[in-house]
Amino acid sequence: MSRIRTCSVCGVPSVYSRGHVWNDNGTIVQRRNANNRLCLYEAEGLRKLIANIEELVGMPVDRIIVEGKRKASLQYLRDAFPDFKLKMARMLRSRVYGSLSDMGAVFGFGRYELLDFRRKEHVKVFGRNIYCLPLLCGDLIATFNLVEEKQAKLDIADKDGGYEITVRAGGEYDEETSRRLQKSVIVPRPGDYELEGCPGCGVPQALKEYKWDQGEGVMTDTVTGRHMAFLGPEEIEIILRELEVELGEDIPRTIVEAQRQYVIEALGQSEFEKSPGYLRRQLAMRGLGNLVDLDLANERLDVVVENASPSLLVAGIMQGIYELITGNTSSYDLDRDGDGTLRMTVTRAS
Ligand SMILES: [Zn+2]
Repeated sequence: MSRIRTCSVCGVPSVYSRGHVWNDNGTIVQRRNANNRLCLYEAEGLRKLIANIEELVGMPVDRIIVEGKRKASLQYLRDAFPDFKLKMARMLRSRVYGSLSDMGAVFGFGRYELLDFRRKEHVKVFGRNIYCLPLLCGDLIATFNLVEEKQAKLDIADKDGGYEITVRAGGEYDEETSRRLQKSVIVPRPGDYELEGCPGCGVPQALKEYKWDQGEGVMTDTVTGRHMAFLGPEEIEIILRELEVELGEDIPRTIVEAQRQYVIEALGQSEFEKSPGYLRRQLAMRGLGNLVDLDLANERLDVVVENASPSLLVAGIMQGIYELITGNTSSYDLDRDGDGTLRMTVTRAS
């Protein structure tokens, strides 16, 4: 494990400021490729979301999630590792697997250790504190695809409170699923919402509340105590869309419901009573979108979030917040424009 560099003012690992930009429109993007958005999201929220979806649809959805994440991570890694770096990396495989493990640890993905590898054949790792198993499996296969230039399949075994995961060359992709999991780029709407930045490195000031345990691969929001992860919201968007294709048109409502349940179970009312400004700042700091309008009156909530992504999760958050603040059960109408704007009205259930 190599020691990571951090900002001397805010303590945030330098990989955040060097590799990413917090824009004034509620998005975080990769510096090398502004089409790659990132967001900060609760690891438990992702796990519960998947568990809630599986409960609601009555079947496992791992296969879709692994493949969606594999494709998205491969794109991110290709942009992060230009050809010359990759050529060197292939000569020093154990180092590249180690440095990707370090990068994952800084992003809150958990800590995985390389147990064994054979060039072009397999990589075996032990992972603990994993943010979300099918998402990490997608990341590991993408790494194998990039370094070994081979398709891959997985073996997973529970071990010592973590997982032993073996990625082996072989397997065939479901081309049909793979093709559908293509990202479509939506040009974000401009904004003018400036987050106060760290004078040392420029990342939002609010990130100084986050702490990193590099050895354990955990990033914690110390205000809420939650384990956070840094990942692409559009990856989640693609996976959710794929669930809809495979499982039917009720899926968007299932996803909003799964997310509403998580918000009600896990989040505190006090967190959102602070002010609309707090919510706007939270969404922007986390790269989930730009809250341009929020009106809570007569037991009705109207919100508009531009560049909302993952939009159905933002919708579930809004419905959950409405119920936490008012104590009402609710129903909602939502509209997602092609430009990524989420318009939503939540009202008291009759
Ligand atoms: Zn800083």
